[in-house]
Amino acid sequence: MTPVPDAGWYRDLRPSPADERLRERAALVVPGGMHGHKSASRLPRGYPQFFSGGEGPHVVDVAGRRYVDLMCSWGPVVLGHAHREVDVAVTAQLAAGDCLDGPSPVMVELAELLVDTVTHAQWAMFAKNGSDVMTLAVQVARAATGRRVVVVAEGSYHGNGAWCSAPGTPGVLPEERAHVVRIAYNDAESLSAAVEVHGDDLAAVVLTPIRHDVRRNLEPADPVFVRRARELCDARGAVLVLDEVRTGLRADPRGSWEALGVRPDLSGWSKAIGNGHPIATLLGVEALTGAASAVHATGSFWLSSAPMAAALVTIRIAREPDVRAAVDAVGARLQSGLREQAHGYGLDVVVSGPPAMPFLTFDRDTDFEVARHWAAACLQRGVYLHPTHNWFLGLAHTAEVVDAALTATEQAFAVVRRALDVGDLQLIAAAG
Ligand code: PMP
Repeated sequence: MTPVPDAGWYRDLRPSPADERLRERAALVVPGGMHGHKSASRLPRGYPQFFSGGEGPHVVDVAGRRYVDLMCSWGPVVLGHAHREVDVAVTAQLAAGDCLDGPSPVMVELAELLVDTVTHAQWAMFAKNGSDVMTLAVQVARAATGRRVVVVAEGSYHGNGAWCSAPGTPGVLPEERAHVVRIAYNDAESLSAAVEVHGDDLAAVVLTPIRHDVRRNLEPADPVFVRRARELCDARGAVLVLDEVRTGLRADPRGSWEALGVRPDLSGWSKAIGNGHPIATLLGVEALTGAASAVHATGSFWLSSAPMAAALVTIRIAREPDVRAAVDAVGARLQSGLREQAHGYGLDVVVSGPPAMPFLTFDRDTDFEVARHWAAACLQRGVYLHPTHNWFLGLAHTAEVVDAALTATEQAFAVVRRALDVGDLQLIAAAG
């Protein structure tokens, strides 16, 4: 076992010299050194910013350190890094042609596969990112209904579109957020109240299949809330939009609410569907075909064929019940292992989320300082995970890989235990 370090150790962590050099160069030519959610500045200091490769369940940083990857590129890599079958399909498509004067036949094949896989879908349109298709979903809903108001849940993320940005986001005018009304996730009454007020002008209700907001334990959708959303949209002639960008291919590939018997009118997918290759899709019901063909849905690279070839292979593999069962089994193994380990060290943790999207928080760790300490100790022991955002698992995470990760997480719990015991860290009871 790696010796438990002295108190305060992780605050002195530094990136590797190779990572540090790249950061210094980037700081001169990239705003902030790195923009967006993949900036390592939000993570404990020892986290690498730059990576040189990935294979199966592992990523390698620019210093050559290999980690068990529990973030899967923040979702996209569902079959494992550098997956052979996907790469063969991509390489073949690149050789045939990727960015042409129009789509290649692979687009039709992919649309057919999606319509065959996702129960509510009768058509598919393509883009690059989750943000693209969630913004498109809102446009299709507004075009179809001729109405303005979009209801979303407080704390849910639907991408970088101005319409769904948080108040105060630099560069976004309040007018660009106009007509977006926030309700509380899983609170059927708050949804009903919003629909009551805005009913005649309600274009869409946009929801994630589960609550997976950052800095929170993940929460399954309450069936009462989900059914109410469907009923209210039906009663008011509004469009129910499901944001499957994060859950897609890590929950039910037929649609995440299939077990609840609720189907949306539109759903947005991205991340995992191309196993890391850039592709997104908006899926919809027949009644919305006209609106979907009317909106301005286009981008220079939206029809590139290689990511579509990647998606064909990825979806065919990932939708198989035995593949999903395998991922769920290793996910369950990780979750129960984490709970047992924390319990063994007398640490109160909550392990939440579906098996393929786990997350861990420490009770009363209001500022996530304990989580950051623990995550840094995991990183030091070769496991890459995140202290405030849910993690992701995939097909490459075998039981052996998960057990290797659990060896590191156990030692990290020991580190946290010691830091708490010597008073270097505190778990502060949340107010109220
Ligand atoms: N919706 C959800 C639920 C997401 O998790 C994300 C990305 N984290 C998005 C939309 C936006 O996707 P992208 O970053 O690919 O634009």
